[in-house]
Amino acid sequence: MKEYTFDDIKTIVRPRLGEEVPLTLFRILRIIGMRSLLGESSGQTLYMMGKSVGTMIGAATVEEFREKIIELKIGIPEVEFIEEDHVIVKLYECITCAGFVYTGELFCDMESGIIAGLLEKVYGKKAKSTQTKSWSAGYNYCEFDIFLY
Ligand SMILES: [Zn+2]
Repeated sequence: MKEYTFDDIKTIVRPRLGEEVPLTLFRILRIIGMRSLLGESSGQTLYMMGKSVGTMIGAATVEEFREKIIELKIGIPEVEFIEEDHVIVKLYECITCAGFVYTGELFCDMESGIIAGLLEKVYGKKAKSTQTKSWSAGYNYCEFDIFLY
């Protein structure tokens, strides 16, 4: 199976429909499709997928990290530096969970992975991100706890 790169997929020729897709379609694929296909391992698999996507996209600085997340419409990140090698990212308008009903479950694993992957590139270290807050758990933003090592 051929491995495609960002360069392979970036050209879009849709003169009538354009480059955007409805967010509901994304959520059908992401929250319903992938979870039912991957089952219990969906969280871990989506995190790993997000991480490789994040490192592929890459970012050189924290400002560029912010810009990439906004440009891709993943959300609006707010970065909080707790201490060396410990960062908290609040994600407003999260692509996956913003507006979601309360379920008590945290499932923004792909976003968590993308954030970790991008920050690995920023800091040149390994990153482990854990989601701690979500719309689906009663907050109006998403939050990720990231440790660099
Ligand atoms: Zn989220």
